[in-house]
Amino acid sequence: MHTKTISELAAALRAGEFSSEELTRAYLERIQLLDPKINSYITVAEEQALAMARAADARFATGEVMPLTGIPIAQKDIFCTEGVKTTCGSRMLDNFVAPYNATTVERFNADGAVLLGKTNMDEFAMGSSNETSFYGPVHNPWNTDTVPGGSSGGAAACIAARLAPAATGTDTGGSIRQPAALCGITGLKPTYGRVSRYGMIAFASSLDQAGPMTRTAEDAAIMLNTMAGFDTRDSTSVERDVPDYSASLNDSIEGLKIGLPKEYFGEGLDAEVGRQVEAAIKEFEGLGATVQAISLPNTHLAVPTYYVVAPAECSSNLSRFDGARFGYRCDKPVDLEDMYKRSRGEGFGAEVKRRIMIGTYALSAGYYDAYYLKAQRIRQLISDDFRQAFDKVDVIMGPTSPDVAFGIGEKADDPITMYLSDIYTIACNLAGLPGMSIPAGFARDLPVGLQMIGNYFDEARLLNVAHRFQQATDWHSRAPEAFK
Ligand code: GLN
Repeated sequence: MHTKTISELAAALRAGEFSSEELTRAYLERIQLLDPKINSYITVAEEQALAMARAADARFATGEVMPLTGIPIAQKDIFCTEGVKTTCGSRMLDNFVAPYNATTVERFNADGAVLLGKTNMDEFAMGSSNETSFYGPVHNPWNTDTVPGGSSGGAAACIAARLAPAATGTDTGGSIRQPAALCGITGLKPTYGRVSRYGMIAFASSLDQAGPMTRTAEDAAIMLNTMAGFDTRDSTSVERDVPDYSASLNDSIEGLKIGLPKEYFGEGLDAEVGRQVEAAIKEFEGLGATVQAISLPNTHLAVPTYYVVAPAECSSNLSRFDGARFGYRCDKPVDLEDMYKRSRGEGFGAEVKRRIMIGTYALSAGYYDAYYLKAQRIRQLISDDFRQAFDKVDVIMGPTSPDVAFGIGEKADDPITMYLSDIYTIACNLAGLPGMSIPAGFARDLPVGLQMIGNYFDEARLLNVAHRFQQATDWHSRAPEAFK
């Protein structure tokens, strides 16, 4: 059962080949047996999962079924789940059980999906390797000495290891796409505002966006059909019709105009990764697409701009974790100030503290204009680069990550090198555009991801283009030897 995609599982459930309870039990057993090797889950919601599976089986009897009814999925541990712990990968929330569900979680529940558990992640989604989690690093199933990427590293690893058919992720600067690339799965970051952020613990509110992580584009379309849509509880969610993302998957891509930004193929890109990505792009030409060179001249400013904007927003968002209202509180505070200082000092890890300090500095009265305001201006220039590019092309393609998975510990003490892992993914968040990563080959026996960036609200096209590629190739169906 664990080798099937969502669409195959849905067909098997409908045909009565097995029940959702049997399917859920099979996944729970696999998790128990194999997750100790990769640490992809923080919480496994065994009892709730079985209860939800039985409720889904009852729905099959009455005929009220949706494509996700009875399908087990994992939620990144950044989404609030009523009755199941939500830690955000932090000691700060180690004891936090939300009294409500995130809108995304509600939508999966309404469709009758089964919550298997909550996946491991970098603390408060800050990281590119899943090494900043309070719950320990996640190991990449393709080589357990390497990182799975981050921050949605648990989600990517559990899908690659067949410990869930699909999962949710969030992407502030690459956290869906980069781990998808490093683990050889499919991941989509939608347009900013397409998916509600209500109940998703905020890192950098103007950049955060939730999206599906799956084995195939076909499954990502099914997941996005459930996730996307306006939410009155999120003022930045966009009131705009949601197309049926599954309906256009098979459309022809004859005449599709692909732009290759020269800045995404230059210095810093691993040669073998570059060759694999170029070979994948040839495949699109074989499917009728045309390719042209483009330029996104402000690309080199994306990482520095992000590392002003994201920490600034995080310093504000994370001020609510003060030991007073919820989450971690230090032992026996002597007074209020001691409680704040020690609760925050002990509750947050080093990377989160680094970001809070950078952000507080950038927003301080004397430096606001020099850093935050300047960064906002450059952000506009980066968006303009894309606007001009999309006058000429339909989709932008390139590598998702400059290299394949790196060794655990290799970049942990070098934040700047770590930050460069997102050099091709961050601009997309600054502009609010949708981006996707799909498996496109291997380099040194580790997966390589191809990134596709689309125009605003063009998720249906990204999914269509990705699906056509996956019909013509089999990179997405490879599985790591120890997890077949
Ligand atoms: N790696 C980037 C960071 O550390 C992006 C993280 C994300 O997208 N959540 O901030």
